[in-house]
Amino acid sequence: STCRAVWDNESIQLAQSWIPQETVIFASDVRINFDKFRNCMTATVISKTIITTNPETAEANVLFSFIKENTLNLSFKLVVEAVVNVYTVEQLKEKALQSDGKLEPLHGIIYGYISTLDIDENVSRVLRNRCSVCRFIVSEESNTCTFCTDVSPEAKSTFASFDILVDVTDHTGTLHSCYLSDCVAEETLGCTVQEFLMLEEEQKTALKWQLLLERSKIYFKLTSSPNWRTGLKVNLLSCKLADPVEASQSLLGRDWNY
Ligand SMILES: [Zn+2]
Repeated sequence: STCRAVWDNESIQLAQSWIPQETVIFASDVRINFDKFRNCMTATVISKTIITTNPETAEANVLFSFIKENTLNLSFKLVVEAVVNVYTVEQLKEKALQSDGKLEPLHGIIYGYISTLDIDENVSRVLRNRCSVCRFIVSEESNTCTFCTDVSPEAKSTFASFDILVDVTDHTGTLHSCYLSDCVAEETLGCTVQEFLMLEEEQKTALKWQLLLERSKIYFKLTSSPNWRTGLKVNLLSCKLADPVEASQSLLGRDWNY
């Protein structure tokens, strides 16, 4: 299941330091509700909430055991509506250059389009297996999660999920090899992994052309990644068709509010 967390300002700042698939979060006293509108669980931060980033191993183990015993499959997603800064590709590249590889994680919006989306060539290049307990990507050879060491092998399973590299382009340039993964990819493509696997080749090509070069409002998270070819790791958090008026106002440099 997909979960969303609703945060106050302080929590948003804290959450900016989290690295997807690396940071372990322990949150106590959060209000958990089922959000009928989004069809998912929502975690709301209340005044009593305590969030611990990367807790001690013992705590993390307790958390993993708890998840295992309750057969919960939680993954938290920042509510992307909280992200308001608009950037051009050029601005992001300049920021990265100036930061000398020490860029703080950055959330924002690009008005641009997906310029490369290879989903119709080789299925193995767009799907990776994830751990059903912690949702981390597992290695192809072992197909078992190395993070959930406290979970018995029988309780561990994996599932296929999207992990697509796309290029994002606007009028100032291109960000190469951005991650379009998991639930965000399903939302963007408008189909689940299972539905995708049922598609014929020409249907995959049609799906690709439905999304390619369409002016979109793209929410992203950017982190510096010295090991990565471009020095930048960009994860797409949401990609939807842009409202033309909103996009042009943004290009004119006007303030833009919700
Ligand atoms: Zn795991």
